[in-house]
Amino acid sequence: MGAVFIWDETSTGARRVLTGRTGGVSRGPWAGLNLGLHVEDDEADVRENRRRLAAAVDRPLVYMEQCHGAEVAVVDGVPDVAPRCDALVTTSADLALAVLVADCVPVLLADPTGVVAAVHAGRPGLLAGVVPNAVAAMRDLGARELDAVVGPSVCGRCYEVPAAMRDLAADVEPVSATVSWTGTPAIDVAAGVVAQLRALDVAITWVPGCTREREDLYSYRGSGTTGRFAGVVARAS
Ligand SMILES: [Zn+2]
Repeated sequence: MGAVFIWDETSTGARRVLTGRTGGVSRGPWAGLNLGLHVEDDEADVRENRRRLAAAVDRPLVYMEQCHGAEVAVVDGVPDVAPRCDALVTTSADLALAVLVADCVPVLLADPTGVVAAVHAGRPGLLAGVVPNAVAAMRDLGARELDAVVGPSVCGRCYEVPAAMRDLAADVEPVSATVSWTGTPAIDVAAGVVAQLRALDVAITWVPGCTREREDLYSYRGSGTTGRFAGVVARAS
């Protein structure tokens, strides 16, 4: 399995992976390592891709039923049904947490005490505060020195929106208001997420790369029917 970016055993002792399209068995518009089950790809292919990712990180993966909200689920095992939420938190070293994206912002949080989280932050999640909620949940579990890897997402110039939508985002995080490649209103969701993390004293590694402009990542805005890549975080065992 090919990962686009890997941090292994960082200062927080966490393992974090961001996958790309390479290394998977999906075909057609999902070609590559599509990890999304709900994007009309062949289910057997997605299961094989998920099996390969779990083997690569050497532990079972917990996925979410992501819904663009602000709910956080704390897990200590693999649930029978994926929790309906947009942030997963665990203190278990026997699990890996996964967030699936194709333009939204994947945020992988860790702390030296062994609390980790995977967060799905799109435009609605930015406005709803899913990232601050996840940070609060981690601190409730004892996290003190959080650091975040913010993965690739659609960039501000590629995310044109109606002016009213940009204004709503600007009300929550002013730095998220920007302009597109043609100068029309746009939103930089990742910049807003980074501002939220910074305001909460979380150290940040922001991975460069726009999903819509890179061939090795999935982009919903770029392709419509397409796959999902993953951000994965786990405690070091
Ligand atoms: Zn872009």
